[in-house]
Amino acid sequence: MDHVRVRFAPSPTGYLHIGGARTALFNWFFARQHHGKFILRIEDTDTKRLKEDSVSQILASMKWLGIDWDEGPEIGGSCGPYYQSERLDLYKKEAQRLVKEGKAYYCFCTPEDLAKNREIQREQGQSFRYNGKCRDIPPEVAKDRIAAGEKAVIRLRIPDSGQMKVTDCIHGEVTFALDQLDDLIIMKSNAMPAYNFACVVDDHHMAISHIIRAEEHLSNTPKQVLLYEALGYEVVQFAHLPMILAPDRSKLSKRHGATSVEEFREQGFLAPAIVNYLTFLGWSPGDDQEIITPTETIKKFMLNKVSKTAAIYDTKKLTWINSHYLTNMDLDDLTREAIPFLISQKVITKDQAHEQAKTIQKVITVVRDRVKTLAELPAAMDYYFKEVTTYDEKGVKKHFSKPGSADLLRQGREQLAQLETFDVEHTEETYRNLTANLGIKVGELIHPTRLALTGRLVSPGLFDVMALLGKELCLKRMDEAINYISTLEIANK
Ligand code: GLU
Repeated sequence: MDHVRVRFAPSPTGYLHIGGARTALFNWFFARQHHGKFILRIEDTDTKRLKEDSVSQILASMKWLGIDWDEGPEIGGSCGPYYQSERLDLYKKEAQRLVKEGKAYYCFCTPEDLAKNREIQREQGQSFRYNGKCRDIPPEVAKDRIAAGEKAVIRLRIPDSGQMKVTDCIHGEVTFALDQLDDLIIMKSNAMPAYNFACVVDDHHMAISHIIRAEEHLSNTPKQVLLYEALGYEVVQFAHLPMILAPDRSKLSKRHGATSVEEFREQGFLAPAIVNYLTFLGWSPGDDQEIITPTETIKKFMLNKVSKTAAIYDTKKLTWINSHYLTNMDLDDLTREAIPFLISQKVITKDQAHEQAKTIQKVITVVRDRVKTLAELPAAMDYYFKEVTTYDEKGVKKHFSKPGSADLLRQGREQLAQLETFDVEHTEETYRNLTANLGIKVGELIHPTRLALTGRLVSPGLFDVMALLGKELCLKRMDEAINYISTLEIANK
């Protein structure tokens, strides 16, 4: 395919939504597959909806996911500027051209006029539609009224009837009835362009070849095609990606949990896991494959194989994919991602992060396949870096309150103290021999020891934990537990 140029055009009205990230990603796959260009354009002309810092958050989320752009904010490009608010002269020029050619006109109807009109149409059981009141105001009259201070929008004159057929790469041919459309506002009374107009002008001037975007914009497409025709531009190819719905098939919203990339990041999801998950929201390579890298997707991706039907958002699946990446990703990368979580939950200090990098990696190696998100790592690792100050209550009842438990732990401690090589193999052998000699199951010693060393009932394999903690710390914690048990015994006497 020649000259593929696609774009992602977010409005900076908040964080990067999971649906926006999927749109960006599919555009990026397509661009990379065809050795084309991926353009990032910021649609910031709806001043009422803008949120401060939104652009920097969107850019940060895209970078974190590994979606790089070839033209756009921070890097520029030959079709810039890439912020719509910096392209106002172009919209003004194109709108004036349409007025001059008689394809657009000034409309002076106030919001009150339009509301009145709507009321009349409602009473008459008609659908709401602009009544064309200003269509025939001669341009010179309109200019005079504007010069006299009246406010006006510019509307595109559109046919009153007929159909518009749009061919979409995903949905095929879609037909729209034109009598459902209003004469489109292209410039607002505050001299800002309306979304549809700015979008068409920019897509043309940025030489976009394919518009790949969310299905919610399918209804804008006939309006945009009318604009392409009026402006004399060549119409681009459209591809509307299926909706992403909540498991109950309702619109995805806050009540379904995290919906922005940033929130998922804070909850401890890994970027490659999110990318993997989003890849399958509406597309699949045609088999049961569940784990896929961007490089592989770029080879296999086909726009016309994107599903027409809504994709269902499923956090269970995302969590499963995240566990997969936690277990399998490169240890250095995983450690780098884990450290901010360990610091923020005060398991380690910033200094420890540097000084004990090797140890942190060792602990991560042991616990990585026991957690589903990075946010679960600190709790799974804290016994290593912090003193054990409390013991699980149920554990105390089960393993520390039995008669003879202090003695059993003491025997374990004595045997461990004699070891010269304190590794998984030797500690395990010691425990197996001791329990065999005592005629008890090895679990009877393992459980209280785990409680002594970690304060909890569940942990990675006890001998892995012992090897990680090292001899000195193990013996110290066992002594502390033995003392604790004796205080229990005194209290119970
Ligand atoms: N700014 C629009 C949005 O964020 C872009 C729509 C489009 O891609 O045309 O939804």
